[in-house]
Amino acid sequence: MSSKVPIFTLSNAVRMPSVGLGTWQMTGDEGKTVIRNAILAGYRHIDTATLYQNEDQIGEALAELFAEGVVKREDLFITTKAFCHEVAPDVIEEALRNSLKRLRLDYVDLYLAHIPAATRECGSHRTDVKVEDIWKGLEKLYSLGLTKSIGVSNFNESQIERIVKIQKVPIHVSQLELHLYLPQKAHREVCKKHNIIITAYATLGSPGRMSVIGADGKPLFEFTKNIPNELNDKNVKALAQKYNKTPAQILLRATVEMGIVVIPKTTNPERMKENINLFDFSISKAEVNLLEAHERSKPERLFWWPNVADHPEDPFAAER
Ligand code: NAP
Repeated sequence: MSSKVPIFTLSNAVRMPSVGLGTWQMTGDEGKTVIRNAILAGYRHIDTATLYQNEDQIGEALAELFAEGVVKREDLFITTKAFCHEVAPDVIEEALRNSLKRLRLDYVDLYLAHIPAATRECGSHRTDVKVEDIWKGLEKLYSLGLTKSIGVSNFNESQIERIVKIQKVPIHVSQLELHLYLPQKAHREVCKKHNIIITAYATLGSPGRMSVIGADGKPLFEFTKNIPNELNDKNVKALAQKYNKTPAQILLRATVEMGIVVIPKTTNPERMKENINLFDFSISKAEVNLLEAHERSKPERLFWWPNVADHPEDPFAAER
C-alpha cells in the first residue's frame, strides 16, 4: 500500500487525490490489469479521455473491482475529456453520455474540454464555436449531475480569463503540460488568482511519446527528440541520491509540493508503486525552488497539437 496521498479540495469542495494514474498509450487488454494493479497499489484517481480509446477497459476493470468490494465508486476520482469533435455545445452532452457508457459509470468526477478548439468528426475546424460556448456546454453537464466538476485542458491564460468573465460555474481544474522544462509560471498565476487547481501532464517528460507513429508513418514527436529528459537532470539526480529516491519520485513530489496534481502514466507495476510512494520523505521549499531554477534557457513544449494550428482558438498560436 502507498504512503498517504494528499487530497486537494476543489473550489466546489470536491476532493481530488493529488496523485493519479495517467492512461494515455495504455491500450488493449493490458488496460484491465493495469487498472487493477493501480487500485491495489493505492491509486484512487484515474485520468482518461475519449482520445485514449481505453475507457471501455477502464470501465470493465472498475465494474469488476466494485463487484468484488475492492473499492467503492465514491472513493474514486475519475476524469475523462471531450476531444475536439466533442467539445461544441450541441454535441458535448452526447459525448459525455457515451464516455459514461464505456466507463460503466453514472457520473465522472471531472470532465475536461481536452482542447479549446472545436472541430467536426472529420477534423475540419468549427470556427463558429468559441471557448465561451464550450464552457456553457460544460456548465450544462455539471447542472445535470453527469460530472461532479468541470475544467479545461490546454487552454491558454487569456482563454481562461475570457471564461472567467462569463462563467456561472467556475473552472475547477486546468490540466496542461507542466514539467521542469516547461514550468508554466504565467498559467500558475492565473489559476491561483481564480482558485483553479492545476493538473500537470508530462511531469516525467513523457518519454513514451517517441513511440507514437503519425498518419505519415513517421514518429509524431520526432521534432522533440533532442529535448533532454528531466529524469536525467543533474539537480533532480542529486536530490534523488540525497533522499535515496528515484528521479521520477523527486519530479513528482516537487510538483505536488507546488500544489499541483500529477498523473504519471505507467503500465509497469513496479513504477506504478514508485510513482505513488512519494510521501515518506520531506523535500524543502529551497530544494523545490532549486529544481525550478534549472539550466534550460527557454521553455521546452513537447505537445503542440498540430490538428488545431490555424484554428481561431488555437491555444498556442502566439508560440508557433
Ligand atoms: P509522463 O507521465 O510524463 O510519462 C509517462 C512515460 O514515462 C511512460 O512512457 C512511462 O513508461 C514512463 N515512466 C513512468 N513512470 C516512470 C518512472 N518511475 N521512471 C521512468 N519512466 C517512467 O507522460 P504522459 O503519459 O504524456 O502524461 C501523463 C498523463 O497525462 C497521460 O497518461 C494522460 O493521462 C495525461 N495527458 C493529458 C494530455 C492533455 O492534453 N490533457 C496530454 C498528454 C498526457 P512505462 O509505461 O513503460 O512505465
